[in-house]
Amino acid sequence: MKRKEYPNMIIQPKTRGFICTTAHPEGCAKQVQRQIDYVKGQPALTGPRNVLVIGASTGYGLASRIVSAFGAGANTVGVYFDKAAEGARTASAGWYNSAAFEQAAAAAGTKSYSIVGDAFSDEIKAKTIDLIRTELGKIDLIVYSVASPRRTHPKTGETFSSVIKPLGETYSNKTVNFHNGDVSIATIEPATDDELRQTIAVMGGEDWQMWIDELSAAGVLENDVTTVAYSYIGPEITHAVYREGTIGAAKNDLETTAQRLNSQLSATGGRAFVSVNKALVTQSSSAIPVVPLYISALYKVMKEKGLHEGCIEQMYRLFSERLYASNGVAVDEKGLIRVDDWEMKPEIQAEVAQLWADLTTENVYELSDLEGYRREFFQLFGFETDGIDYEADVNQDVNIPNLR
Ligand code: NAD
Repeated sequence: MKRKEYPNMIIQPKTRGFICTTAHPEGCAKQVQRQIDYVKGQPALTGPRNVLVIGASTGYGLASRIVSAFGAGANTVGVYFDKAAEGARTASAGWYNSAAFEQAAAAAGTKSYSIVGDAFSDEIKAKTIDLIRTELGKIDLIVYSVASPRRTHPKTGETFSSVIKPLGETYSNKTVNFHNGDVSIATIEPATDDELRQTIAVMGGEDWQMWIDELSAAGVLENDVTTVAYSYIGPEITHAVYREGTIGAAKNDLETTAQRLNSQLSATGGRAFVSVNKALVTQSSSAIPVVPLYISALYKVMKEKGLHEGCIEQMYRLFSERLYASNGVAVDEKGLIRVDDWEMKPEIQAEVAQLWADLTTENVYELSDLEGYRREFFQLFGFETDGIDYEADVNQDVNIPNLR
């Protein structure tokens, strides 16, 4: 492989398990543009005007930011944890995504700002509040979309690590190595009480509550402010390791937090929701055992039925048909917004369950959309994207225009 001195170099994917340690700036920019084009092709939205997205650089948070800016013409502040390029190392995908987003947002005439750092810290919350006060005055939508393996508590200094484990009993089910299609049985031992406590501390609602409390105390929330965080329920097959496991307990805590925030904010006309979203390929979901194989089977069925959605389609539907729908916000009996409704249709789940029973290493590419999963995984990092010359030198040093 021909390699020049950085910053101009050929960038190829380098993977370690479910992590890709390189990212391609032009490929990431193209993926962001694809999402922007999708939103621009939909009817314009009325709703959010000044939006804070916490966890804004990839996955559902990035898509929420794109829908806010390009669907509703809103100004946005994005908070995320990403790294710039350094020496021979490329920047992370979220860095390149955010740079591309900010350039496009400026060209479209909306304001956008980035704060890069640990959203769990007091420092980043204070910095964000200062920025909002100076540049936007007040905000009317806060999207909380952080997915992290760790959190350091800002008051006690304790660092918690999350685990994805069942509770009570050992769980075994099929899983896949999406790089080579090997289907095997994953066996996961139950979490200890302390692992459960730590997972709730990382992925539960405490930090979301802290953000809203601090924004509120600083007087930067509009009276009719909306806040939303994201959750997942999913099928029977993954319940033991997801919804009834450690991460599900954290999501229960997030959902309880939404109820508390809703009572708090409704005093001035505000509201808080949890939206249950569809299972999709993101950096976070690829780290969960069993889930990538389930997503591959789900993609196969939903694509065949013309019901497939990615992050951007999900978030456009969340904003247009739920959060800012003219006839009010539809919720289920637990008060949750459900944009996983198509995933959970009984006929979709029945077909997935049938495929699941039959899936083996020998038939995985035929019975599931594992190839689609694998390609989307690489696209998260800007690879395998049409129209990009991956043999050409590219400048990996990309600036984020409004980084504070
Ligand atoms: P993701 O990994 O694509 O995005 C996570 C975001 O959080 C990134 O912008 C990252 O920079 C940011 N982040 C991580 N740690 C941070 C920190 N310490 N400080 C600031 N930012 C930080 O994840 P995703 O899959 O889009 O998940 C977002 C939310 O959606 C999560 O609550 C997840 O449970 C939920 N969800 C995901 C799925 C799915 O299938 N991917 C389905 C339903 C719900």
